[in-house]
Amino acid sequence: MSYTTQIIRERGRYGPYGGRYVPETLMAPLEELERVYTEASADPRFQAELDSLLENFAGRPTPLQLASRLTEHLGGARIYLKREDLLHTGAHKINNALGQGLLALRMGKKRVIAETGAGQHGVATATVAARLGLACTVYMGTEDMERQRLNVNRMRLLGAEVVGVNAGSRTLKDAINEAMRDWVTNVRDSHYLLGSVLGAHPYPQMVRDFQKVIGAEARVQILHAERRLPDYLFACVGGGSNAIGLFYAFLNDATVKMVGVEAGGRGKSLGEHAARLGASGGYSGARPGVLQGTYTYVLQTTDGQIATTHSVSAGLDYAGVGPEHSWLSDQRRAEYTAVSDDDAIQAARTLARTEGIIPALESAHAVAELIRRAPHMEKDEVVILNLSGRGDKDMETLSRYV
Ligand SMILES: *Cc1c(COP(=O)(O)O)cnc(C)c1O
Repeated sequence: MSYTTQIIRERGRYGPYGGRYVPETLMAPLEELERVYTEASADPRFQAELDSLLENFAGRPTPLQLASRLTEHLGGARIYLKREDLLHTGAHKINNALGQGLLALRMGKKRVIAETGAGQHGVATATVAARLGLACTVYMGTEDMERQRLNVNRMRLLGAEVVGVNAGSRTLKDAINEAMRDWVTNVRDSHYLLGSVLGAHPYPQMVRDFQKVIGAEARVQILHAERRLPDYLFACVGGGSNAIGLFYAFLNDATVKMVGVEAGGRGKSLGEHAARLGASGGYSGARPGVLQGTYTYVLQTTDGQIATTHSVSAGLDYAGVGPEHSWLSDQRRAEYTAVSDDDAIQAARTLARTEGIIPALESAHAVAELIRRAPHMEKDEVVILNLSGRGDKDMETLSRYV
């Protein structure tokens, strides 16, 4: 048996990646979460309750729309959009927030804790907490609170307590530290509701399982529309939850190629981008390391300090990536590439004008990569692009550029 097969059999491992690197105090709550989550996954009543909320509250299933004008404009493959932007609160994040909210209730917790950068995950969490009758505290850097006033107001209207974090760079990673501190102190009655396929086991697996509905629906929908599987899947990769959500149902279909698109920011040197898996594109600074409880590719300086990152899109602006993507990248099962700020903005404009859809800037990265490649594809090839969210939240940035 090879080294890699041994390792992948271990719980929460994706090849050498993943695992659980946390202080002793968090071992027990993570064990509890894993146990309750495993029981819930095998409980048809839990799944029925989640399905009902996804349908009636969040708006699933989302359409798989043939983007006929974009297809014509690019002159290559037939392009389908998986419309996660049509969900309640405007992005795929609600799928996971609902799943974990129900788990919190099942564990008898009264409160959820979240951290948020741009505020999208905070809004999804506050929304679900209100719907399920849970108390909610969201940590946010004060710098981010300035930039995202509207989302702060949304969360407060929904009844969440928004706590400003005035330490360090006053952004996401400082907010994560505060949220962890709160969790350690209040772990008996609080659930930490993590927003992407990051963190210690079981989070990467659990969040993927709550997002895999995207690909499960898309698979049925494309077989109905085209009578065959797609040739390509495209998705943007921040932590990687919308991407793995789409990819997962197709991982065993060898003919389906997968493209994950990271933030190329404004340059290839460390600090200018968030392309953790983009070494082949010349983006510097990523190598495996431990970040926030998981072993994965991390953007870091030569002496191992977590690097600063840059992206025009807050949802992609993070130094680490989900461990399963690190493994899929090493295995070359999925390909990872990066798109610059400028190209993403341009792509948002193209999608708006050809399809009447203003995408989130995160999703616009995937659109930009597709715009680059589709003209070189055959007309009978089929692409599914995950439109992870809508662009209302990005209107200020978009209008500044246009
Ligand atoms: C948060 C966010 C992302 C990035 O998160 P993933 O976990 O990589 O999916 C992408 N798109 C939208 C619209 C988001 O809000």
